[in-house]
Amino acid sequence: MKLSRYIKIFPFEKKPGYVLLYSTGKASAALVKEETRDSIGKGTLSPENKATLLKLGMIVPDGETEKREAAGFMDRINSKNSGLNISVILNLDCNFDCIYCYEDGMKGRLYMSDETAGLLTAFIKKKFRPGKRSLNIDFYGGEPLLSTGLIKSVSAEMKSFAQSRGASYTFTLVTNGSLFKRKIAEDLVSMGLKGVKITIDGPPEIHNACRPFKSGAGSFDTIIKNINETCDIVNVAVGGNYRESNFEKFPLLMDHLEREGLTPERIYELKFDPVMKRAGGDRPAADYTDGIMTVNEPWVIRAGTALREQILKRGYMTPKITPSPCQVEITDSFVVNFDGVIYKCPVFIGRDGFSIGDLKNGVRDYSAAYNLGIWKNEKCVECEYLPLCFGGCRYMSYVRDGGMDNVDCKRAYLDAALEYLVKQDIQYARKTI
Ligand code: SF4
Ligand code: SF4
Repeated sequence: MKLSRYIKIFPFEKKPGYVLLYSTGKASAALVKEETRDSIGKGTLSPENKATLLKLGMIVPDGETEKREAAGFMDRINSKNSGLNISVILNLDCNFDCIYCYEDGMKGRLYMSDETAGLLTAFIKKKFRPGKRSLNIDFYGGEPLLSTGLIKSVSAEMKSFAQSRGASYTFTLVTNGSLFKRKIAEDLVSMGLKGVKITIDGPPEIHNACRPFKSGAGSFDTIIKNINETCDIVNVAVGGNYRESNFEKFPLLMDHLEREGLTPERIYELKFDPVMKRAGGDRPAADYTDGIMTVNEPWVIRAGTALREQILKRGYMTPKITPSPCQVEITDSFVVNFDGVIYKCPVFIGRDGFSIGDLKNGVRDYSAAYNLGIWKNEKCVECEYLPLCFGGCRYMSYVRDGGMDNVDCKRAYLDAALEYLVKQDIQYARKTI
């Protein structure tokens, strides 16, 4: 037996004589005596320890076989996937004018037509192969609630289709939250709405400057009111995008949520992410100066871990550290734009060279366009972070390098942050999901 190569060993100061083993492949952690760790190499593990560590993915019978099998990681994830996930951009219209919108320059009164919606449901039925157990649609915009009629008609058809296959149908909304009133929430929950994701970019003055209504008026109070009206009948996840200049103010947002009664029991999940730089100079630099091009920047590491600590310390839930391949590598996951053109990730919509087909003609081979399996190289396969990274984010590579020939390596970030993040997950075990 050998230690898996997809493992990190961290000191554990709180318990002298012990070390923390963390499997990046199984997202499992175990506190073991230093002598137990040493006995792995010597081949003197007790049968009980051997069985436990094998199950947790921390030891493997043979390191070379593990390395050879790593190339099939994604194939295994894809073959076990019993779901189909479709992100649908219902329109490119919005009642907000966010300063960093990645759809800027494409936006307008552009809505999915009934004819395209018909092609969409036919496409989904075709892609929902026998054996699939769950169908989920993420409705995006623009603002998806400007297309409520289409959400309902597509959902009604998809729900009865999934039922006819003995499968489940759910949908989620990525919404700015300004139109998500109680009555709409009740209607949509009855049709399969499982959760909504609403963005709040910091305390009122920052959020209102980043995400104003088109009129220029602030949107913070409207969103808070709507979350308060709806979070008891549907899971509301709150996300926020911070920048180097303002991340230190995000705890004030949490103070605000608590004061408004949006306490940890009422919010499904809280998660903050750095704003990503936009590709190709679509907007003047004066509007948008500090989006990131890599998570390896020291301030991003500092901000991400500190804000996560604040979230957990206050009792809010946030996602656990788990293997997370880029959606591009997930076979049964598609993004359909309002006009029926298909992509692999919402950030690529409208970008030349990244469409993978359309609803009329189906999906063509996109492995070269998105450089699938970019992580199947000696360095990545040898890397202990492979299951947490899989070559990183294709969009980050594209923004940085103008293409996808290179991986978006997260090594510096993971070297600096993973120990801290894993220890957070252990300390706040019931608050990570
Ligand atoms: S390209 Fe980046 S943003 Fe898009 S799915 Fe992959 S990791 Fe996510
Ligand atoms: S891109 Fe970097 S961090 Fe990611 S798997 Fe490859 S070597 Fe490891």
